[in-house]
Amino acid sequence: MTVFVLGSINLDAVARVDDLPRPGETVAGRSLELFLGGKGANQAVAAARMGAPTRLMGAVGQDDSGASLKTKLMGYGVQVSDVLELADAPTGQAHVWVSASGENMIVVTAGANALVTPQQVAGATLEGQRILLCQLETPPTAIEALFRAGAAKGALRILNAAPALPQGAALFPLTDILILNQTELATYAKLDHEPVRLEEVSLAARKLMSRPDQTIIVTLGATGVAGVRRDEAFLVEGRKVKAIDTVGAGDCFCGALAAALAANMDLRDAVEMANAAAALSVQKSGAAPSMPNRREVEAFLE
Ligand code: ATP
Repeated sequence: MTVFVLGSINLDAVARVDDLPRPGETVAGRSLELFLGGKGANQAVAAARMGAPTRLMGAVGQDDSGASLKTKLMGYGVQVSDVLELADAPTGQAHVWVSASGENMIVVTAGANALVTPQQVAGATLEGQRILLCQLETPPTAIEALFRAGAAKGALRILNAAPALPQGAALFPLTDILILNQTELATYAKLDHEPVRLEEVSLAARKLMSRPDQTIIVTLGATGVAGVRRDEAFLVEGRKVKAIDTVGAGDCFCGALAAALAANMDLRDAVEMANAAAALSVQKSGAAPSMPNRREVEAFLE
């Protein structure tokens, strides 16, 4: 089965500084690195690295970064023929400043990502695309169009409702598997704290269920992953690893889960595999470059 990702594609520019600048101040950067980023791109890379045929739909600008990000995606084995190059907006960018003490400031400009429309989605051929995977860095109207078209073709619709947006909840009834981290769960379930124990997580997750056949997966950082269905809740414990850089761990989990489901694994096994993939990813820096391949994950699970 194929994984079809609708999502964002960004150029991440990461500058390291001694101290973050104050308003009006200019500081010298120590280094500048440019990465492929965006939740859609990261999750597509994770799925492709895990061996699933993966198609990404999204938009970049008609600029050098757009062309180079598409080339990078192809290098990871992601099909990019559904990535439009739009004249009306630049490629999305995330500008990240990281201080010597590890604090950061981030500005994300959506650029072309914000211009993906339901019409673009309607033009996609979904034959054989059985797993659909979206996040909320793409307009919800486009996600809704994809999920409605997918439902008619019997596709499994996975939504990683991140970042937490008020409009995101309107997509939950169209979703088969909803993936959230603890902060997002607390926001959508309107809790005043992040749930930690499985009973609390499952209580909060069930508040968000709009259909009896839905599954909600909650990623719990180093603690692992909770799976909640109407009448069962399970915890897959986090793998004990030395974390170097957790950026992109959530994206790795989502992409790997979609790939495992595309390989016909049942939900629990797929969660185990994605939990292992994400644990491997936190041992390397960067988002896309840290995504493990299937062989590495299988060896880690043995
Ligand atoms: P991020 O925003 O950093 O990409 P997230 O907040 O979306 O991540 P997390 O819940 O922090 O998501 O992490 C996703 C998954 O990655 C976890 O459920 C777990 O499987 C794995 N993971 C994250 N941190 C660790 C860790 N320190 N050790 C082992 N596994 C980890």
